[in-house]
Order: sequence, then C-alpha cells, then structure tokens
Amino acid sequence: MTADSSTSLEPRQPAGNPESGYWLSFNPHASEVAHQFCGDNEIPGTDCPNCMKPLLRILSLDARDVRVNLDPARIPFVHLFYCWTCSIPFGEFSYKIEKDGSIKTVKSLSEYEDAFGSDGPYDGYMGVFPLCHVALEPISDEDQQKLCQWAESNEGDTEDDVEALDRLATPRHQVGGYPFIANPERTSCPECGQDMPLLATICDDSTGNDPWGREEKVSFAGNGGVQMIFHLCRECSIVTAYHCCD
Ligand SMILES: [Zn+2]
Ligand SMILES: [Zn+2]
Repeated sequence: MTADSSTSLEPRQPAGNPESGYWLSFNPHASEVAHQFCGDNEIPGTDCPNCMKPLLRILSLDARDVRVNLDPARIPFVHLFYCWTCSIPFGEFSYKIEKDGSIKTVKSLSEYEDAFGSDGPYDGYMGVFPLCHVALEPISDEDQQKLCQWAESNEGDTEDDVEALDRLATPRHQVGGYPFIANPERTSCPECGQDMPLLATICDDSTGNDPWGREEKVSFAGNGGVQMIFHLCRECSIVTAYHCCD
C-alpha cells in the first residue's frame, strides 16, 4: 500500500483523547492521583433509566490528573457508567455530566428482545464490585506505536495484523490513545453531532487487568472477550458507551 492510499481511507477507530494511552495500575503509589474504579458512589441521577437499578459505576476519572486532559473547572470528574441488567448493552447509551456533577441520560435503548433481564449476564451476578483505587500507567512508546498502527489501519483485522500486535491483541483497561478494540465503532455526539473521541476501554475484570484468568463473579459480563467502550465529547460533557465482543 502506498502512503497516499493509506492516508485517504478512514481509520478503523477514532483517535483517543488524551492522545497518549495509559493502562490502569491497581497498585497506585501514594504520590499519584488515584481514580476510583467500581465501588459505591453518591453521584446523583445514576439510577438506570430502564431497569431502575443503580447504574454500575465502572470508573471515575479525576481531572486533577492532568494527563486525562480535562478542564477541572468544567468537568471535575468523568464517570463511566454501564448497566448489565437491562437492554442498555444492546445499543448506544449516552449521558450528560451536568455542571452540578449529576448524571442525566440522553440516549438509551429501552427494549430489546434478548436482553439479559434482571438476573444479569451470568448466574449469580450481583452487580456489586468493590472499590479499587487505580492510577494511570503510561504505555511504552513502542506499544503505543503498534496500537496506533493497528487503529489507523483499515484493511480489516487479518491474521497478520493480529500477529503484529502479539500480546497487545487482548482486551485491557485503557484510558486514551489507541486501545485494542475487537469491533470498534465510530459515534457522533447526540448533542453537537461531532465525531466523539475515544476516552477509555474497560475489559471484563473488576479487580485487575486479566479478563481471562479470574473467577466469573469478579467479571462484569462473564466473558473475557467483552469490552465496554467509552467516548467523550468534552464540549458537551457527554459520554457515549457501548460494548463489543471478540
Ligand atoms: Zn439497567
Ligand atoms: Zn458534543
């Protein structure tokens, strides 16, 4: 492929904001800004618009960590929410983070024939995951470059592509950059219509970075291939979430 043809085609997934990618460290150092992963929260407006259960808070990113590239005066925290006990996983779910910090649903799928229902995605699903404190861990330049090449290619995920990614071709928790996503989608902001940059991907592990090696009860969806993808429009303070699977 020539340089010209590669630049004229759409990349397979949008660029991340922040542009540099970070993995999550579940053993943050005392000197680092800690972000909250799962656990109880007192954020107003966080009952699911469909099943009326509390939405699952996956991550609250603290804007005091300048690497997240947020204006603390506008969005002091970006919260990543999802619901695994209704139809939300089967469509795009969008919500606005209001100036007072509360959450307001903008868009959700209210009905879906094969939705999981109130029992959740696996037997024994409780929907409760303990609080962990996490910090951002910079991805090496070499790994970042490989992931960027993957994200910007558009040939489809051939075996060669996946082989080049090697150990990076697996779901992980990642903020910013170019996370590996099995089936990436583009999405536009429901308010301003702009293409929404990627903010984060979350893998199926509530206690660390190993979606394939944990007991089911600490997984979000009981399937190591599941990823929750979060986009953020910083202009409108709107998050759009969906999930995909390998
Ligand atoms: Zn729900
Ligand atoms: Zn917008």
